[in-house]
Amino acid sequence: MKPRLVVMKFGGTSVGDASCIARTAKIIAGVAKENPCVVVVSAMSGVTNRLIEAAKTAEAGNVAGAEAILDALGQQHETALFNLLPDDQKRTRLRQRIEPVLAEGRRLCEGTALLRELTPRTLDAISSLGERLSAPLVAAAVDELGVYSEAVEATELVVTDAFHGGAEPQMELTREKSQARLGPLLEKGIVPIVTGFIGATAEGQLTTLGRGGSDYSATILGAALEADEVIIWTDVDGVLTADPRLVPEARTIPVISYREAAELAYFGAKVLHPKTLNPVIQAAIPVWIRNSFAPEKPGTKITPEGRSIGGGVKALTAIRDVTLISVGGPGIVGLPDVVGRTFSTTAEVRANVLLISQSSSQNDICFIVSTADAQRTVEALRKEFAHDLAHHKVEHITVDSKIAIVAVVGENMRGTPGIAGKTFNALGRESVNLIAIAQGSSECNISFVIEEKAVKAALLTTHREFGLEKAEKA
Ligand code: ADP
Ligand code: ASP
Ligand code: MG
Repeated sequence: MKPRLVVMKFGGTSVGDASCIARTAKIIAGVAKENPCVVVVSAMSGVTNRLIEAAKTAEAGNVAGAEAILDALGQQHETALFNLLPDDQKRTRLRQRIEPVLAEGRRLCEGTALLRELTPRTLDAISSLGERLSAPLVAAAVDELGVYSEAVEATELVVTDAFHGGAEPQMELTREKSQARLGPLLEKGIVPIVTGFIGATAEGQLTTLGRGGSDYSATILGAALEADEVIIWTDVDGVLTADPRLVPEARTIPVISYREAAELAYFGAKVLHPKTLNPVIQAAIPVWIRNSFAPEKPGTKITPEGRSIGGGVKALTAIRDVTLISVGGPGIVGLPDVVGRTFSTTAEVRANVLLISQSSSQNDICFIVSTADAQRTVEALRKEFAHDLAHHKVEHITVDSKIAIVAVVGENMRGTPGIAGKTFNALGRESVNLIAIAQGSSECNISFVIEEKAVKAALLTTHREFGLEKAEKA
C-alpha cells in the first residue's frame, strides 16, 4: 500500500515559544514515524505584526526604532533557540541560519528609511522574515527528537503572480517545483519544514499570500503534492459554532463541508484563511483543524460533502474590519450602466467585495469591502463618477466604517424554511438594527449588516436561538 502523505501546518501560537515548539515537534515526530509528512510553519505569534511595525517605522525615517524592533525579535528567537537546544554546537549552527535573516531585515529597513518609501515588494520581504526565522527553529526541534528534518524556503516551492501582499499561486509550476524539491527529501525520510505565508514569482521575486496565509500555503502544497490529508494545527479544538472569544458557549463542529467552512472563512472566521479550501476542492483532499495544545482531541474534519444536521444552521461568523460604501441618489435610475461601472471600478483596484445590496427603487447601490480596501475604492469611484457627481446624476458616494457583517451559515438551510425569520426575531429582541441583508441563491448563508457595536449581542442571541451550544454527536 502506498504510504499516506500528510501535510501539516502549525500556526503562530503553536510555535509561540520554546515550549510550544517542543510540543509541536513532538506531534510532528509522532506523525512522521507513521507517515511521510511535510510541515508548514507560521512565524512565532505576534512576530509578523512586529515586522510590519518595523517596516512602517523605517518608512517614517526612524531607523533606530526599526532596528530596536528587529533586535527584540532577534532576542526572542535566541531565547527559544537556547531553550530548545542543549548542545552548544547545534546552537551555533542554528544561529548561523538565523543571523543572516535578521541582517537582511536590518538592510531592508535601512533602505526603506533612506528612501522613506515602503513598496509592497519591500513590505513583503520584511514581513516574510518571521517564517524564515521560525522554520529553522522547528526543524532543529524535530531533529532533536531523532527525526531527520530540514527547513525549506517556500520561495523554492510556491510560484505565484506578482500581486504583493495577496499573491495567487500558479499551480502547475508549483506542482513541478514542489515535487522536484520535496520528493527526494521524503524518499530519504526527511521531514521538510516549509515557511508558510511566502511564495515567489517565476522570476524569483518573494511574495506573500496575505495575512493569515500559512493555512493557504498548507493546502497549496497539499494539492501540489497530491497529499492524502492536510492537518491545520491551531490553538482551538477545531472549527467552532462561533468565534469563542465572542461566544463562550461555542462548541466544536465534528464534520463540516468545504462549502460551509469556506463561507465561514470568507466571512471572518479567523481559524481559516479565506482561500484555504480552494486548492483542495478538485482533488477532494480532506482538511482537519486540530488543537496543538490538545492533540488528543479529534478536531474538525472538512470534507466535500460535510454532514447534514437537523436545524440547518451550522455556525455563525462576523467580520468587523469592513466598510459600507454606497453609490446613489434618485438620478441613478436613469444611468443604466451604474452597476457595471461601480463593480468594474472595484475590480480594477482589486477590492474584495464581500456583500452587495440594492434596493428595488435603484436609489442606492450598497456594497461592503474590507476597510483596508475602502479608501482606494472610494477614490477610484469618485474618479469614475466625477462627471455624474458634477451633474447630480449620482448624488453621493458615502462611506460607513462602523459596521460589521454577521453571517449565518449552513448547507442544510436550503429547504429549511423560517431561518431568516428566526434570525430577525432574535435580533429584534435584542434591539439590533439591521442595515442591510443578503442571501445568495445557494441558500448556504444569510448575511446581514449591523452596527459594529452590536456584533457580540447579535452573535450571542442568534447562537442561542438556533441551539448551537448543544453538542452534536461526533
Ligand atoms: P493560527 O495562529 O493557528 O493560524 P489564528 O489565530 O489565525 O490561529 O486562528 C485561530 C483563532 O480563530 C482561534 O483562536 C479563534 O479565536 C478564532 N476563531 C474565529 N472564529 C472561529 C471559529 N468559528 N472556530 C474556531 N476558531 C475561530
Ligand atoms: N505569519 C503570517 C501572519 O501573521 C501568516 C500566518 O500566520 O498565517 O499573517
Ligand atoms: Mg491563522
